[in-house]
Amino acid sequence: MSRFESSFIGIFGGTFDPIHYGHLRIAEEIVEMINLREMRFVPAGMPRLRSAPVASPQHRAAMVHAAIQNNPRFVLDEREARRPGMSYSVELLRELRQEMGRNVTLCFVMGADAFMRLAEWHSWRELFQLCHIIIAARPGHALATNHDVLPQKLREECVQRWVSSAGSLEGASSGLIYVAPTTLLDISATTIRARIVAKSSVRYLLPDAVLDYIETNHLYSGEE
Ligand code: ATP
Repeated sequence: MSRFESSFIGIFGGTFDPIHYGHLRIAEEIVEMINLREMRFVPAGMPRLRSAPVASPQHRAAMVHAAIQNNPRFVLDEREARRPGMSYSVELLRELRQEMGRNVTLCFVMGADAFMRLAEWHSWRELFQLCHIIIAARPGHALATNHDVLPQKLREECVQRWVSSAGSLEGASSGLIYVAPTTLLDISATTIRARIVAKSSVRYLLPDAVLDYIETNHLYSGEE
């Protein structure tokens, strides 16, 4: 089946403050592994569980646009960036489910660090009615495959949900969890922002188009 016929769509939420090669590479690999029709990047407006992003939602969305524009499988979804107030993933997924209908399978992508905190999310158990979860390992964060490290509530909810191959995700329209064997890249937006403040190079940690955007708009340097 060609990827254009695939009914699987990836949803990649994040602050993307800024987007970097850690995000882009796992997205590319997951598209290929799961044969996704598209990967939809959804920059958060105001995330609930972390401090406020440094760059505005408009700048963060523009950087995602600059980063993905040459990849036909990558799509920018600006609805959260435009929405005032908090971003809740479960509401986003409810909305996407309604728009796309039952014939589409949504695969929600997150890093292992984000997955560890899933049980703190608003209506988190409902996510399993709406989508599969795809976890990317992240250097310096406990492996999601070691279930002992998961908080008890999350571990118990997930017990029957783990699948060990991308193909097994075909077995249900939502509610399965797959740890994707993606390339480990020790890149974080926090480190990139700190390097910019310190006037150190961030070249090759993110696309040149994003770096140009940051420089043109004087982002993260404390001068904006
Ligand atoms: P910050 O350092 O500001 O927390 P971040 O680099 O973690 O930012 P986010 O936009 O918060 O980037 O991340 C969005 C999603 O991408 C999260 O689920 C996060 O776990 C995942 N992610 C980010 N960087 C990586 C990476 N290098 N490898 C795997 N997953 C990552």
